Amino acid sequence: KRSVSALAQFGQKHVTKGLGRLTEAVFTKGEGCYVELDDGRRMLDFTSGIGVTNLGHCHPKVSKAAADQCMNLIHGQCSIAFHEPYLRLIEKLIPLMPDPSLDSFFFWNSGSEAIEGAIKMARWYTGRQNIITMQGGYHGRTFGAMAVTRSKTIYSEGCHPLMPGVFPVAFPYWHQHAVPPGTSEEELSKLSLYQLELVLSQQTNPKDVAAILIEPIIGEGGYVPAPTEYLKGLREVCDKHGILLIIDEVQSGFLRTGKFFAVEYTGVRPDIMVIAKGLANGFPLSGIVSRKEITDKLSPGSMGGTYAGNAVACAAGVAVADVMREENVQENVVARSKELFASLAELQKDPEVGPAILDVRGKGLMVAVEFASPTGHSHDPFVDPSAPANLAKRIAKRCQDKGLFILTTSVYEVIRFIPPLNISKEDLAKGTKIFAEAVKEVVQ
Ligand code: PMP
Repeated sequence: KRSVSALAQFGQKHVTKGLGRLTEAVFTKGEGCYVELDDGRRMLDFTSGIGVTNLGHCHPKVSKAAADQCMNLIHGQCSIAFHEPYLRLIEKLIPLMPDPSLDSFFFWNSGSEAIEGAIKMARWYTGRQNIITMQGGYHGRTFGAMAVTRSKTIYSEGCHPLMPGVFPVAFPYWHQHAVPPGTSEEELSKLSLYQLELVLSQQTNPKDVAAILIEPIIGEGGYVPAPTEYLKGLREVCDKHGILLIIDEVQSGFLRTGKFFAVEYTGVRPDIMVIAKGLANGFPLSGIVSRKEITDKLSPGSMGGTYAGNAVACAAGVAVADVMREENVQENVVARSKELFASLAELQKDPEVGPAILDVRGKGLMVAVEFASPTGHSHDPFVDPSAPANLAKRIAKRCQDKGLFILTTSVYEVIRFIPPLNISKEDLAKGTKIFAEAVKEVVQ
């Protein structure tokens, strides 16, 4: 039998190169905010497995619920019959929905699959084909999801032509409109809504548009919250033309932003909402939520999937909802978020490194620090091409050397903070201290 370290070398040879990695070490254990590696290191994990293990690794109540379910029923195939955890989960989720109209559920395994299903539902319900998506948006790597993903070319490289009928519009962020950093949200919303108007008059008639798809806080594409005015504007456009608004809460959902769903900050009603990641704290589970009136139009059998809504994953999902309520996770997010923003504001005030920080933004524990560093877009008129390059990646690497896993985003010079939502004050302070040291060492 190979040792774990020997297995890592075996993996280098036998695992597809298409999979990128932050480290060549191997995870051997996860516990709360920490992961252990085969080389003996115990790392503080501010990635939460890309926003999944929101209650920390192996939360005992979630693990127990899953283990108990394993002894009872693992695979109750949803096209054969309902199973109890599937229905219990719906019972738990209904009161958490951002709008009472969201009352019809379908569970799947991954975010990408749920996005595919949402597109399918929108096309079916409206009888229209086209989808409007955001430049910078990320929705997954399967074929339909890849077509609506516009955060980085790597995700669809060599795979064109993609699913037709997708029209990207600029997200309200200064990079996308070539306006100076600091441009107001109101102005950015106006620019983006104007661009949408142009697309609807020059490229696709609104009566051919099934849905507008958006992340309320754009994730892989830079951790940028969509301004309330913009989302309200999209709602108006949808209402005017009979277009469905699909809100992708895969990364921003389940208290990540301090509210159950990020869209709650805006008061905007989604027609379809896509959920995953934090839903089951690491078990593969995603969901499409919409109005019964929409799903009643579907033909039985048009939705399904062998593992869709797996019983163990659903049981874990039920436990997640219980733990979030019983352990006051929301209060923790609000308190830790304040501390995180305060520590980043301190760093911004530092005369040595402050000028390298362009922006600190986000909500709850979905927070970004953007650096003033050229990203390779030589025509970005507002970034000094002589500033040090690749700051975010170098800072993330330095954090790793110091015992902290932290992620960048796909575009711009952004470090994203996405720690477990039940992180302690001490662990958060430990991570932000490592980050501050890494910034100082890399920037100076
Ligand atoms: N939507 C968003 C907003 C995401 O962040 C992701 C994953 N990072 C997805 C969809 C795709 O989810 P999955 O990787 O589970 O397919």
